[in-house]
Amino acid sequence: MKVLFASSEVVPFAKTGGLADVSGSLPIALEDLGMDVRVVMPKYASVRTASSEASIGGSVKVYFVENDHYFKRPGLYGEKEGDYIDNLDRFGFFCRETIERIKKEDFKPDIIHCNDWQTALIPVYLKTRYAHDPFFRGVKILYTIHNMAYQGVFPADEYSKIGLRKDLFDVDCFEFYGKLNLMKAGLVYADAISTVSPSYAKEIMTKEFGCGLEGVVSSRRRDLFGILNGLDYGSWDPATDTNIFKNYSARTVDDKYENKRGLQKELGLKLDSKAPVIGIISRLAYQKGFDLLAAIINEVLSMDVQFVLLGTGESKYHAQFEKLAGRYPRNASMNLRFDAKLAQKIYAACDIFLIPSRYEPCGLGQMISFKYGAIPVVRLTGGLKDSVREFDAQTAIGDGFTFPGVSSGELMKAIKRALAVYKKEDVWRSLVTKVMEYDFSWKRSAKDYRALYERILSA
Ligand code: ADP
Repeated sequence: MKVLFASSEVVPFAKTGGLADVSGSLPIALEDLGMDVRVVMPKYASVRTASSEASIGGSVKVYFVENDHYFKRPGLYGEKEGDYIDNLDRFGFFCRETIERIKKEDFKPDIIHCNDWQTALIPVYLKTRYAHDPFFRGVKILYTIHNMAYQGVFPADEYSKIGLRKDLFDVDCFEFYGKLNLMKAGLVYADAISTVSPSYAKEIMTKEFGCGLEGVVSSRRRDLFGILNGLDYGSWDPATDTNIFKNYSARTVDDKYENKRGLQKELGLKLDSKAPVIGIISRLAYQKGFDLLAAIINEVLSMDVQFVLLGTGESKYHAQFEKLAGRYPRNASMNLRFDAKLAQKIYAACDIFLIPSRYEPCGLGQMISFKYGAIPVVRLTGGLKDSVREFDAQTAIGDGFTFPGVSSGELMKAIKRALAVYKKEDVWRSLVTKVMEYDFSWKRSAKDYRALYERILSA
């Protein structure tokens, strides 16, 4: 089977978020299953090669779409001042060039796997402009939603820029409350739609999570699927991680505590091997539930725990958490920046990892913390709901501490349940070693994608 994977960001060439991790890992895992997979992305300034192609994982070819005016810029979608004002021109160009490029390369895929709004025009062009082009006969399209909140919405008067028939700008296709919405049209024209967890697939059909497109998504519910992302254990494994203080695995879990000590030292916390370390690493955004945490953080810090935060984002949260650092210098460490190395040290050091998200399409933090032997406390939403079950100390079933409501009280209770189990040393230890053995690798998800591609092709 031949697959073209179209994405606006791919590790290691360009990254702003989780989409880049998926795009840099899933194609390799699919190729390992015996498929012929090629990736296409824009050639940004961050792409260092002079060539118009490269490869990932040794064997997956990556085609770069080149246009210096559009893509040789400091940012991918914008800079501090906001989004680039010509994003419609930029990604419209990317979609048209993607189609032309594979024709030029004589690579006829069975499936074009599109990701997020930057690639949403591919299905529309293919099924309109290219509808009678024999090269593309039988090519099917899967469109994956990584986050419903980013839809590629532009002013209606920019519609003429994308060169499509006027009548497509209507409520059944591009038109969205008087504006132009790329994701909407992509969802209408794709042969199938997927999102990054089974629960999020259900959630986006509701008003609460659908961001205005719940009706469109619901109308396609028969073609809608949810597949949980995998984790790249090549980069996330405490046994091989070169950024942490001491490597460890489920068999040498005592060495995890060397990491606790190392982090306490580095961050100026009290050296204390017994105190539970609670960590959170996240964008400081409303989506991530920081208001829930802010409401109870004083109560948390007044208990016998240590708290480590790493994150950047909305300035009001920066101010709130910075203030606390001064008040609790020995048991709180607030690191308000992006720091990939420190992140790995925190995962390795902490006992409890918080993810109180309002919504979470998939979430990586829970999978990383499992691997590093940190027990997640999560709100039951999206991918968190699909990967973390409440732990029961009696039966030893479960793997974390969960709460359903968007409620700081429920978050506090879940943290307290975690702390109560933490006190039972043996129970905690067997929980930690159990979750470290879990397999959330891409291998599993790649098989699910392969099955989905096959299903689309046989429809
Ligand atoms: P999202 O893509 O919505 O931000 P995910 O849970 O899918 O959330 O992925 C977040 C990833 O980014 C995780 O690997 C997390 O460790 C990392 N991360 C978030 N904030 C920071 C930060 N300030 N420094 C380092 N890594 C961070």
